[in-house]
This record gives sequence, C-alpha cells and structure tokens, in this order.
Amino acid sequence: MNNMDNIVKIQSVSEVTHDVKCFRFEKPDSYSFIPGQATEVSVNEEGWREEKRPFTFTCLNEDPYLEFTIKGYPERKGVTAKIHTLKEGDELIIRDVWGAIAYKGEGYFIAGGAGITPFIAILRQLHEDNKLKGNKLFFSNKTAADIIYKDELKAMLDDDAVFITTGEEGDSYEHTRIDEAFLKKHVSDFSKHFYVCGPDKMISDINEVLLALNATADNVVFEK
Ligand SMILES: Cc1cc2nc3c(=O)[nH]c(=O)nc-3n(C[C@H](O)[C@H](O)[C@H](O)COP(=O)(O)OP(=O)(O)OC[C@H]3O[C@@H](n4cnc5c(N)ncnc54)[C@H](O)[C@@H]3O)c2cc1C
Repeated sequence: MNNMDNIVKIQSVSEVTHDVKCFRFEKPDSYSFIPGQATEVSVNEEGWREEKRPFTFTCLNEDPYLEFTIKGYPERKGVTAKIHTLKEGDELIIRDVWGAIAYKGEGYFIAGGAGITPFIAILRQLHEDNKLKGNKLFFSNKTAADIIYKDELKAMLDDDAVFITTGEEGDSYEHTRIDEAFLKKHVSDFSKHFYVCGPDKMISDINEVLLALNATADNVVFEK
C-alpha cells in the first residue's frame, strides 16, 4: 500500500447489460475528479492488490458515492473477471485520478463498446448543467444487447444519440461502420471537437477518416 491508495467498500452492484456491471462504492473524503478521468483499480484481496487496471468514473463528481461501469472479460481470467464476482461489502483499491479525456467544448463523441464510459461521465455532467445541446453521440456496438445505458443516453440526447450496430442485421439501428460516408451524413460542422474512445483499431480507422475530412480528435485507447 502507498499513500495514494484508498480502500473503498462496494455499496451496490447492478447489471447494465449481459456483460457490463455498475459498481457503486464509498467516496473517500475530499476525493474528486473531472468527468472523463480514470484511476488505477485493484481488488483488495490476497493476490489481487497489485493487479491494477484503469477504470473511468461514471458518476457525477458531486454524487455522494463513486461509480464504475465495467465490462467483464471472463475468458481472460484477469481483473475484470474478478471484479464481476464482487458483491456489496467487498473492497476495491483506488488511486489518484488522472486525465483520460476532458470536455473542451461542443462536438461529436464517438464511442465503441466500453469506450462510452468517459463520455457517460461527461454527458451526465453536461445534462445536469443543462449544456448538452450542440453535442452528438455516435455509439457503435456489435449488437443492440451490448449498448450500455441505451435508454438513459436516448433520454438525454434524443436524436443526437446515434446508435450503430456492426454485428447483426434486422435491429432498428444503423448497420454500418463509422466511415467517411457515415460522418459526412451525420456531421454538420467538422470544425467542432471530436472525442473518440474505443479499441485501438477503431480509433486509428476513425482518425484516418477525420484527417481526410480536415478534423482532428481527442482519443483514448481502451484496448490493444
Ligand atoms: C484510461 C482507461 C480507462 C478505462 N475505463 C474503463 C471503464 O470505465 N470501464 C471498462 O469496462 N473498461 C475500461 N477500460 C478498459 C479496461 O481497463 C480493460 O478492459 C481492463 O484493463 C481489462 O483487464 P483484465 O485484467 O480483465 O484483462 P487484460 O488485462 O486485458 O487481460 C488479462 C490477461 O488475459 C490475456 N488476454 C489479453 N487480451 C486477451 C484477449 N483479447 N483474449 C484472450 N485473452 C486475452 C492476457 O494474458 C492478459 O494478461 C479503460 C481503459 C483505459 C486505458
């Protein structure tokens, strides 16, 4: 343990999708973060304390609790699989916050899968502050069942939440990749900010397209 380590008790665990859970836990005194920031997390159990992985806060900074929204990868037998077995009363270790991605002004949020998490924090805060207008979300998933906080995102953003599925036909979402044609159809102002978060392949593909359209993005790579 070092000075920056905070042991926090889990207060509740809820299912978000078939492979994503929401964990709420104690907020240490004077702990605070900016929406989009993350911290290194481990499980406070023998053999797991030094297995640190980054996760993003999805609550509001003013909430009396902290919250992570975590996609589990059971096949990897790593930290997310372990965290998904935890229950109320179990403990995590969280460390200092660090910036993953920060809101700089109105623009377009492009997320793949669990890459939505920094944007959840940012969009919830903008919604709370009544400043969401002028922002638009493109959220890509394999199937409709994978869409994290679908109803909340729709309620907050209405037509400015565009869901895309890449792995199944026949649902009511756009079945496409986020390519040049897609962005030209949905983006009215390429001089606005672009925020991109997801697997590294998705980010490099989208950056290439944005570059061709004379736009640049702030990125967070979630998975190699
Ligand atoms: C800044 C940042 C913030 C993040 N915030 C969140 C968040 O809020 N919510 C969220 O859900 N995720 C988030 N992530 C992603 C999250 O950190 C990873 O999903 C997590 O680290 C995976 O940990 P793991 O131990 O389960 O698996 P890993 O550490 O990826 O893998 C454990 C072991 O499994 C093996 N392995 C690795 N990849 C594979 C593979 N593809 N198939 C089979 N085996 C494999 C390897 O041997 C590896 O050692 C964030 C990532 C970053 C960079």
